[in-house]
Amino acid sequence: MEQTVALPTFKYHPDPVATGVVVRDEDAPCLSCNRIRGYIYDGPVTSEKFHYLTHCLCPWCIADGSAARRFGAEFADSGTMAGVSQEVRDEIAQRTPGFYSWQETRWLSCCRDGAEFLGAAGSKELKTQFPEAVKAVRQCLQTDFDLSGADLKEFMDALSKDEQPTAYIFRCRKCLEYLAYVDET
Ligand SMILES: [Zn+2]
Ligand SMILES: [Zn+2]
Repeated sequence: MEQTVALPTFKYHPDPVATGVVVRDEDAPCLSCNRIRGYIYDGPVTSEKFHYLTHCLCPWCIADGSAARRFGAEFADSGTMAGVSQEVRDEIAQRTPGFYSWQETRWLSCCRDGAEFLGAAGSKELKTQFPEAVKAVRQCLQTDFDLSGADLKEFMDALSKDEQPTAYIFRCRKCLEYLAYVDET
């Protein structure tokens, strides 16, 4: 796919095209800048005033904060992070593309900073794309789901990117450790 203008850089969501929340669309106008930029944001948006903002905002208006200001919009829930400054929380909630999760979207943090979101994963993606995150997923299943041994292995094998349960993979920008949580309905 040819790209004429480089997409904006998102510190906490480095490749929103790969994770599927920014999509190519030659015809979709952005409600914030009124331009057709060729890419549109397809991820979650919460706004008290507007309920129709998905597929209506371009990634540039998310990156510079204008979409958040204009519509009182947030794209991710950064309230679950501990020990992270308000500045980082605001950047993740208001200037970073979010992602869909089954129940509660959690943005993970490490080293007093928000982590970068790398994508959703099932057992297949863990093997091919995120082998270094297997340890973090296993740890999450032990602590959050109280699983061990054969049960844990069975649950790991059942993880799916498109069907539940799904693992959400992050990496710390400072210590580069992989982090993960698992969600299902
Ligand atoms: Zn725009
Ligand atoms: Zn860290």
